[in-house]
Amino acid sequence: MTVHLVGAGPGDPDLLTVRALRLIHEADVIVHDRLADERILALASPMAELIDVGKAPGRSTPQEMISALLVHLGLEGRNVVRLKGGDPFVFGRGGEEALALADAGVSFTIVPGITSALAAPAAAGIPVTHRDVARTLTIVTGTCGDGAETPDWPVLAPLLRAGGTIVVLMGVAHRARYARLLIDNGARAGMAVAAIERATRPDQRIVRTTLAELGTTALTNPATIVIGEVVHLGDALVDVTSAATQTR
Ligand code: SAH
Repeated sequence: MTVHLVGAGPGDPDLLTVRALRLIHEADVIVHDRLADERILALASPMAELIDVGKAPGRSTPQEMISALLVHLGLEGRNVVRLKGGDPFVFGRGGEEALALADAGVSFTIVPGITSALAAPAAAGIPVTHRDVARTLTIVTGTCGDGAETPDWPVLAPLLRAGGTIVVLMGVAHRARYARLLIDNGARAGMAVAAIERATRPDQRIVRTTLAELGTTALTNPATIVIGEVVHLGDALVDVTSAATQTR
């Protein structure tokens, strides 16, 4: 049996891959995070064991324990799905879990998922690239745990000036700080910003602001923050996305 590191997409079960859906149906055990959408967990077999590693009394389970759990379950010979939000390898620690499984000699597969870095802008009608507006797309984390370096914001500011798009994941907590760093390094204070909270979930909320006002704009997690001229294109397209949602 095998451990499958499966991307669950941003939340809406319609955005699972066909392979993810099949593996969720077949799993003996599903190891999931706090952000896992209830509608997706409901697709598991009634016989499947669901293990929440995002909520161990009041706080999340340390990464080493999650990796050790996956190794243990894999060695037991059970059919394991490690369900991860979005794509397992986009700021999802999937790489660490894959390395731990490889080290322990447990067979595993990687099932890519639709990352919120792309799904959240799409849900707001924002094309992250556009031939006339944005030719680069940078996906960064706004938060680095474990004492790691934060992204090099001064280097990213010129990309915005040149007409690029920056998508920030885990970007709620430190938004005032990096917005200031971008402006101090030459990004326009009036540059458009959109934050998409709980993208593709029933309580999705889209907030429009500017780089200068991002720090004082109220936001809640999980949110994906899009910075760049492409945000204006979303203003024209958002009615189309909501109409599409309503006709489903
Ligand atoms: N591997 C995930 C990202 C994990 S980091 C992926 O590919 O999507 C967690 C961050 O993802 C959150 O802080 C938030 O920025 C973003 N995120 C996850 N789910 C989201 C959702 N439904 N709506 C908006 N942003 C989301």
